[in-house]
Amino acid sequence: MPELPEVETIVRGLRATVVGKTIARAEVRLRKIAVAPDSVGFARAVAGERIEGVGRRGKYAVLQLASGRSLVISLRMTGRLVVAGSGEPHWPATHVVLHFRDGGRLSFADVRTFGRVRLVEPDERWDAALGVEPLSSGFTHEAFIGMLSGRTTPVKAFLLDQRRIAGIGNIYACEALWTARIRPSRPAGRLTKPAICRLRLAIVDVLQRAIDMRGTSVDDYVDADGLQGGFQNDLSVYGRDGQACLRCRTGTIVRTVLAQRGTWWCPRCQR
Ligand SMILES: [Zn+2]
Repeated sequence: MPELPEVETIVRGLRATVVGKTIARAEVRLRKIAVAPDSVGFARAVAGERIEGVGRRGKYAVLQLASGRSLVISLRMTGRLVVAGSGEPHWPATHVVLHFRDGGRLSFADVRTFGRVRLVEPDERWDAALGVEPLSSGFTHEAFIGMLSGRTTPVKAFLLDQRRIAGIGNIYACEALWTARIRPSRPAGRLTKPAICRLRLAIVDVLQRAIDMRGTSVDDYVDADGLQGGFQNDLSVYGRDGQACLRCRTGTIVRTVLAQRGTWWCPRCQR
């Protein structure tokens, strides 16, 4: 499932290839994926639009259009955004295609069909429910302490809550907690200040390193050029159940289920 580093990698790829392009027409092959305000058809609304910029908010990619509208894209479990020449074959399960005036195209493919390409009006506050960006200057030590204060929820579930911090998913929550030596089930509000400090630094570090490696391909994730990321080779704990802990060497990584998600951690050195 694409998380912040994977979406950031896709966005950087798109920035290099689709900014400045004009959408000649949109081809909607599966209607539920392409969402527009009721009064206007998606394909009709985006035809003739120019892509002015590409950004990211949490796990969402955002194409900024010349009219002030945006295309907000959620990849969810298996969504892919891939740029291709017009003669190249489509990926399997391609549901929305933006055909550009100069001949290229941007395709949204999604086997599980949970993803969406949503047309958003200029004044629509679509991201009002999303929390702080963990790589922004707003994610300070003080802010993080304030967010965690009084929370009884397990710290891992807290990290996955997009209303608190936007962009962290299962892989990076596991990795950050391992790096900070914190047990995933610890109540968020009971972390000591040094532990909170370690966790904040671990979150920033693991996300940044994963971006540097162009994301983690443990499932279907590929970047905007259709290429896999490289961080799956640098994972410390995620998916390593039964193996020796890379830090303490004496512990064995276990997989437990927390908030309905597989959770990998070392019972020996995560407290
Ligand atoms: Zn350990």
